[in-house]
This record gives sequence, C-alpha cells and structure tokens, in this order.
Amino acid sequence: MLLIDPGVLGDEMAALADDLSDSGQPVVAGFSTHPHWDHLLWHARLGAAPRYGTARCAATARDRLADARAKARIAELMPPDIAGQVPLDLLGLITGLPAEMTQIPWDGPQVRIIEHQAHAPGHAALLIEERGVLVAGDMLSDVLIPMLDLNDTADPIEDYLAALRLLEGVAGDVDVLIPGHGSIGGADQVHARIDQDRAYVHALRDAHVPSDPRVGPSAKDGWDWVADVHARQLERLKGLTQP
Ligand SMILES: [Zn+2]
Repeated sequence: MLLIDPGVLGDEMAALADDLSDSGQPVVAGFSTHPHWDHLLWHARLGAAPRYGTARCAATARDRLADARAKARIAELMPPDIAGQVPLDLLGLITGLPAEMTQIPWDGPQVRIIEHQAHAPGHAALLIEERGVLVAGDMLSDVLIPMLDLNDTADPIEDYLAALRLLEGVAGDVDVLIPGHGSIGGADQVHARIDQDRAYVHALRDAHVPSDPRVGPSAKDGWDWVADVHARQLERLKGLTQP
C-alpha cells in the first residue's frame, strides 16, 4: 500500500493500521501532499516505510519543525476537542523526492506527482493514472475554499490560478477525485470544482463578494468557519496589493 496523508486522530490511524494488516497488504510507502500538520502525521503501527513528499514539502516541514517549541505550538493551534488525541511524535518525518522525479518510487501502479505552488510550499497532487484517481491534497474541496499560501510566494493569486490550470490539464484522465477535506467526487466534479475554485480566486483578486456555496449560510454543517478564513484572506491580500 501507498498511504497518502494517513489521518489525524491516533485512533483513526490505529484503526487504519489494523485494517491494512488484516488485508495482508503492508504499507510500503507514505506520501504527504504538503507541509501542514494535518497532512504530516503518522502512527507507529503503520510501520517504518519511507514517507515521501516533494523536496520543497520536506524542506519546509524540516525548517518549521526544527524549533524545539514547534510541536507545542501546533498542539495549541488544534481544535481543543481533538488536541489530546493527535500523536505528534512521528510528525513530519518526510523524505524529499528530487524535483525531477515525477513518479512515486515504488513497485505499485504508476503514481504521477503533480507539484504546484498554491496552498502550501511544495504542494503536490497525485494521479494514479491507470485507475483514473486524483488525490488532490488541499485543492479542489467541496467544503474548503481555496486557501492561498500568503507567506511563501510573491504572487499567491497567480500561483493558485496556475495550479488550477495544471490540474485542469489532467482532468480528462480523472474518474475519481479525492480531496484532503470534504467529499470524494466523480468525473463530473473535477471541472466543476476547478471552475468553482477559479471563480473564488478571481473574486478574491478583484475584491468582489464571492457567490460561493462554501462561504456563508450555505456552508455545510461544521464548516461555517470557512467564512472567517475568507475574511482573513481578503484582508491579507489588501495588505499585499496596496502600495
Ligand atoms: Zn493544508
């Protein structure tokens, strides 16, 4: 098995480890789509397979975790109802894959690494070509708006639009879309979500109110905080674009 962004709670990762060991298929590789804490976790019972990410993802994780207080700060950022249930000891132990490596190095089906600069440094989606499956990390969600990387890039809007164009380039090969948060989508959802995300980013760029079902009263249950993320992005972008 290749295990991508395995989970958050200790319990859920342990249950996954049980299911995988019952299936008789050991985890032979891991992959983190990007260097945010909820995508960098691992459980001892998942085993000691190499855990990969893009070179930039791994370097960013390493830099951010180098500080002795980093894990304590991450624990403080977590929603209080889960804070004690997330094992941080194996957080972020990622091996960076060289930029020219465009496939996961393993013996399973070919998995193409589609790196782009959008939500976080070194973010990558994975395309399992022979199965038509796109694992999108924190892109193309039906519950989260595009959350731009406002810290590590000179032009976060254009970077995000370029990433959407890159994903659009493979959309024709995708039958199943798996975002890191929200619902799995079929082939029809790929273009719909790309269009929805592009419209959101354009609205953000032009400081228009986005007519986006993920922001405001139409947000799905439990996702009302996305409106606050939108408000913060709007504020930050004003700061970035004003002379
Ligand atoms: Zn993220």
